[in-house]
Amino acid sequence: MRLYDKFSRLASEREQFRMTGINPFGTCIDEVFSATEGRIGSQKVILAGTNNYLGLTFNVQAIAEGQAALANQGTGTTGSRMANGSYGPHLALEQEIAEFFGRPSAIVFSTGYTANLGIISTLANHNAVVLLDADSHASIYDACALGGAEIIRFRHNDAKDLERRMVRLGERAKDAIIIVEGIYSMLGDIAPLVEIVDIKKRLGGFLIVDEAHSFGVMGATGRGLAEATGVEQDVDIIVGTFSKSLASIGGFAVGAQGMEVLRYASRPYIFTASPSPSSIATVRSALKTIAAQPELRQKLWDNAVRLYEGLEKLGYELSSHISPVVPVIIGAKEEGLRVWRELIAAGVYVNLILPPAAPAGITLLRCSVNAAHTHEQIDAIIQAFAQLKK
Ligand code: PMP
Repeated sequence: MRLYDKFSRLASEREQFRMTGINPFGTCIDEVFSATEGRIGSQKVILAGTNNYLGLTFNVQAIAEGQAALANQGTGTTGSRMANGSYGPHLALEQEIAEFFGRPSAIVFSTGYTANLGIISTLANHNAVVLLDADSHASIYDACALGGAEIIRFRHNDAKDLERRMVRLGERAKDAIIIVEGIYSMLGDIAPLVEIVDIKKRLGGFLIVDEAHSFGVMGATGRGLAEATGVEQDVDIIVGTFSKSLASIGGFAVGAQGMEVLRYASRPYIFTASPSPSSIATVRSALKTIAAQPELRQKLWDNAVRLYEGLEKLGYELSSHISPVVPVIIGAKEEGLRVWRELIAAGVYVNLILPPAAPAGITLLRCSVNAAHTHEQIDAIIQAFAQLKK
């Protein structure tokens, strides 16, 4: 027992949540019918809390290509990219991602988490200084800890605060690594990238942008926030994931030719198994779909506006801008849990986010729309929220 004693508070808190109804932590989606519908227990629900932004998880072509890869290349690679886990399609996908971004190099990792770990921990070693947005994803923090870099946090999305801290660094600013995200996953807000690039141009440093939630979602061709804001040439490395718009699992980084050397130094690249052939095949297929169907992005934003405006009209407290992530800010934890369960009973699944996962100590219901939601489904989500007001 002693081994787990230090978790006793956490365990009892979580147990209390579990005893009072459906467990919000690791909710079991018992059946998935499509990109927008599933079943939790006996309740059929609209899935409005995923990262499946372009709704491609049930794309017919991707499924066919995934099945063919499974049949032709087997269920798994059973090895790391460095050893026996690099197949032709892994290299082909790297080439395709590099071409999609118009950059010399792309590296495929096993998840988005390991992409951040693999790139950042290797560059941000104990001699380095990293300037991080305070609301950075756990994988970015973990990467810095693994690398041993000195971490300086700046206030979320506050370019002025970043600049002050860069100035304080003096000469060291020239080699500092600045890390921000495209769309932030909880509040759906975006980094002030133009201002950050301006700071980098004046004071030096290298810039890494994690486009996990903005790839496929922003930019004329879906390359993300850097494309949307016209600053791609000033971003040194873009990191992304296959687990959101690309509807699979795995991660990537794109950058200059020099980035290739990280393959020989990055422990999270070397010491974990590579993505399975079926995952790689579905990503290749989804990437082609994203390039060929920009209308998916239009549909996504159309749905985002519809949900945001509907919830705003009902008087819910939302974030100040519209994005495919629509956070509904709720008061206390208990209230959040109650509302979350009532939404499921009304046929709508969203993510319940409690502090510290939600920034600034708030509780929120993280709604997210995708390109496959119909207007009827978006209206049903709004209707479920309307019922709660009564
Ligand atoms: N970066 C960000 C900003 C994320 O939100 C996430 C996942 N939520 C990741 C990286 C990790 O991606 P993956 O789930 O593919 O490991």
